Amino acid sequence: MRYLLFILSGLFFFIQASAQKNSFVADSIGYAAIKQCEQTFPQFYREFEYIKAQDTLIKKFVFVQQPGTGPAFASPKGVITINISYLNKPKPNFDDNRLIVVLYHEVGHLHYFLTIDRTKWNPEDSEKAAFEYSLLKTKEMAEKNDCLPLATGLKFMKLRSMSNDLQDAHVRALKRMVNEPLYTGYVKYVSSKCNMTIK
Ligand SMILES: [Zn+2]
Repeated sequence: MRYLLFILSGLFFFIQASAQKNSFVADSIGYAAIKQCEQTFPQFYREFEYIKAQDTLIKKFVFVQQPGTGPAFASPKGVITINISYLNKPKPNFDDNRLIVVLYHEVGHLHYFLTIDRTKWNPEDSEKAAFEYSLLKTKEMAEKNDCLPLATGLKFMKLRSMSNDLQDAHVRALKRMVNEPLYTGYVKYVSSKCNMTIK
C-alpha cells in the first residue's frame, strides 16, 4: 500500500511537472499565433507590433498555451508572457479591444517595476499601476477617435471591482480605483468625447 502511494505521488508530480513544462510553446508557434491575429484581432496585432518595436522596457515576449489561466503576465525582468489560448480560440469576454487593454496592462506592470523602488513593491499597487497605465494608453487611442478599447477597459474594471474575491490583488486594486477621481475622470471623458456610458 505504501509502495502504491509512493508510485501514485511520483506519478502526480510527474504529470504536474510535465503540464507546466508543456504550457510553454516555442517562439515560432507564439509568433505564428500573433501573425494570425492580423486577421482575427487586427487592432491587437497592430498594437502588439507597435509596442514590440517601440517600448524599450519590453525585453522579450514568451508564449504559453494554458487554458484556464490569465491572458498575459509580466515579470520584473521585462518579460511579457502571452497565453496564446486567448488568441487561437477567441473567448467571449476577450475581444480585440479587451486584448489591447490586457497588453497595455502588462506593459504597465513593467513601468511599475521600473519606477517604484523594489522594497515598496506590492501586488495590489502593481495591479493598480497596470490598470491605470492601460487607461492612459487607451485614452490616447480614444483621442485618435477609437473609443472602444478605453470604454471596454473601464467596463471590465468596474465589473471586476464588484467581485468579492479579496485574495485577488486585481480585485483589491480595482475596489480602490473605481472610487478615485482618476477613474471617474476617464468615465466622464468617455461620456463626453465618445457619447458612451459606463455602467
Ligand atoms: Zn496585472
